Amino acid sequence: MQVYKTKLISKSEIAENTIEFVLDKPGSFEFRAGQNINLKLPGVLYPDKKGPRRTFTISSAPKEPYITITTRMTGSGYKRTLLEIPYSVDLELIGPMGGMEWISGAPLVFIAGGIGITPFKSMLTERHDEGLSDPVMLFYSNKVLASAAYHNFFSNYQSDNFRYIPIITGDKNWPGEKRRFDLSVLKEYLPDHVKYDYYICGTILMVEQISQELQTIGIAQAKIHSEAFFGY
Ligand SMILES: Cc1cc2nc3c(=O)[nH]c(=O)nc-3n(C[C@H](O)[C@H](O)[C@H](O)COP(=O)(O)OP(=O)(O)OC[C@H]3O[C@@H](n4cnc5c(N)ncnc54)[C@H](O)[C@@H]3O)c2cc1C
Repeated sequence: MQVYKTKLISKSEIAENTIEFVLDKPGSFEFRAGQNINLKLPGVLYPDKKGPRRTFTISSAPKEPYITITTRMTGSGYKRTLLEIPYSVDLELIGPMGGMEWISGAPLVFIAGGIGITPFKSMLTERHDEGLSDPVMLFYSNKVLASAAYHNFFSNYQSDNFRYIPIITGDKNWPGEKRRFDLSVLKEYLPDHVKYDYYICGTILMVEQISQELQTIGIAQAKIHSEAFFGY
């Protein structure tokens, strides 16, 4: 595994309690949309049983000049340190690793819960940069709109073959979809759901439940691609 030096360049709160960190992209660093890295701090300023290293999906796309990671602030010692660390400090970027492979030419359904949106932000930016028009439908579930990271990006994403369904489960005044994602929601939006490949990202529980449900309606395991974020 390659280890690179990087530095924080900027950070901004892009949704409630959700920070996007912009990192310097080392010259020789290459990755595929949807891959992840380990970001190692020189140490932690607050106690943290897991230490100074965490895994994050790269939320930016390969052609962008910087690397971004996006995370919910949980109060862990690691994240409190990351928030406070001066921009001059050297950090270690280890990777890239894993990631869900983009199946080019196939119609895709992306299903994200909360901060599980990060690989899809990268993949959809890449799709735009490459001028691809493979059909994609994105279901993105959050309790409240304020915590939906990149909601404006997806709402304004210009493409004939892209449909964005924000699901807001905890706000009875939300005018759009409020139901938790399940097979009845899927069938309503996509009567021809069998022909799609599925990408799921979120908590372990969410990913396992949806993967199992999809298999009960005949979606082959090979057509289900998933990434589970532990720690949430
Ligand atoms: C392939 C992969 C990709 C990932 N991509 C992302 C990503 O893009 N974005 C992202 O945010 N995460 C991602 N994760 C998860 C990430 O690695 C962390 O596990 C997650 O962000 C939680 O880290 P943490 O430091 O907040 O909590 P952890 O240290 O993992 O602790 C778990 C929980 O305990 C609580 N906790 C821990 N320490 C304290 C403390 N000192 N005080 C109070 N509460 C505490 C927090 O509430 C936290 O949620 C990914 C994981 C994997 C495996």
